[in-house]
Amino acid sequence: MFKRVLIANRGEIALRIMRACREMGIESVCVYSTADKDAPYLKLADRAICIGPGPAKESYLNIARLIAAAEIADVDAIHPGYGFLSERPDFSQACRDCKIEFIGPSPEAMQMLGDKVDCKKTAKANGVPVFPGSENAIEDEEEAVKVAAKIGYPVIIKASAGGGGRGMKVCHNEGTLRSQLRVASQEAMAAFGNGAVFIEKYLEHARHVEIQMLGDKHGNAIYLWERDCSLQRRHQKVIEEAPAPNIDRKRLEKVCESAAKMIVNAKYAGAATCEFLLDDKGDFYMLEVNTRVQVEHPVTEMITGVDIVKMSILIASGEKIPYKQKDIKINGHAMECRICAEDPAHGFRPSAGKIDKWETPGGPGVRLDSHVVPGYVVPSNYDSMIGKLIVHADTREQCLDRAARALREFHVGPIKTTIPLHQRLVENTDFRRGGVDIHYLERLLK
Ligand code: ADP
Repeated sequence: MFKRVLIANRGEIALRIMRACREMGIESVCVYSTADKDAPYLKLADRAICIGPGPAKESYLNIARLIAAAEIADVDAIHPGYGFLSERPDFSQACRDCKIEFIGPSPEAMQMLGDKVDCKKTAKANGVPVFPGSENAIEDEEEAVKVAAKIGYPVIIKASAGGGGRGMKVCHNEGTLRSQLRVASQEAMAAFGNGAVFIEKYLEHARHVEIQMLGDKHGNAIYLWERDCSLQRRHQKVIEEAPAPNIDRKRLEKVCESAAKMIVNAKYAGAATCEFLLDDKGDFYMLEVNTRVQVEHPVTEMITGVDIVKMSILIASGEKIPYKQKDIKINGHAMECRICAEDPAHGFRPSAGKIDKWETPGGPGVRLDSHVVPGYVVPSNYDSMIGKLIVHADTREQCLDRAARALREFHVGPIKTTIPLHQRLVENTDFRRGGVDIHYLERLLK
């Protein structure tokens, strides 16, 4: 096992990884930008190293500085968390070149599953259901028009290297498809340094269901079942839950089995998430694979009892996954509310600044993953998420009631947060019934 691990991230996930390291007897080295220099979680690390100024490009996204910090601290491994460099094959490669273990997949496996076009091919070859659409990146307009005519409108143009919901174009007819293709490719080039785009069938009504996977270096893979993340705003998840309500578990199990096969065949080691859209007939279509730990991993931890962050460390150190598929049992229901420093009453405008009041919920079945303490100043440089409230109970209904109870105990000020939105959602009758689609929240907020 590793003696010392560098955490190439910040905020709640840095703290989450630090906690896992502590319990495993591993020293943690946390990096920080000057914007985070007073962050309280840094004191919990065995060592903290400044890697540059506030802008992420000069700190958390700067590979050379992170590797330098890792060498200074003499660590055995680097955990990238989520976001920042976590899905960059060049970072995984840089770690390999410097003989530091990257806690995540090899650059090859990351490339194969992280690139959307490559991933779709791999998925198809392993029997994972994907959207009908172009097999390869689209080379010319006529080809796109042909494919679209075959699968039928509406279609969506997506960047092969895309992420964060950026650069996607929905086209309802040939005219828009023709006019948007070049724009999409240019935008993809500007945003991701890769202009490759492809098209697939666009689903008007869909749910977002994803499967948590673990693969190891010995050719084993297991699935920790699914999460439903349909409540989204601007492609950002707002509430996630597990298990998914009102779902055909037999069909789900089949998809899980083929996803596990794909992970094995891609020689994938670490935590991964296969994201799917589910149509109203209950058919699954794979969107992409996220080659890292997800923000919403705690809901799966709560219902399976498997510590996904510890597993990622264990796997990177060369151990086998200590569970067989039959050991994975679902216990109860869990839900996560992402608490963001944004004002839902005013168009979700960012609300950075000092948090004087931070009164947090507790009691049975309540978990709070957050790096905030009273007096913490939310920097304006980064993501607005300041914590995740996770609740667990025997049934979905009890879980919703528990979430409502916990949210009532949660008081934050003077900055504004999304707590009032969550309070509204856990009482919402459509959401309580289960199975809302990915556009539900935007319709509700209109
Ligand atoms: P990104 O990597 O940029 O997040 P995804 O492929 O995961 O891109 O898609 C992000 C979101 O865009 C999905 O959660 C869904 O809301 C919407 N989307 C993507 N592809 C489709 C599709 N074929 N049909 C309907 N909605 C889609």
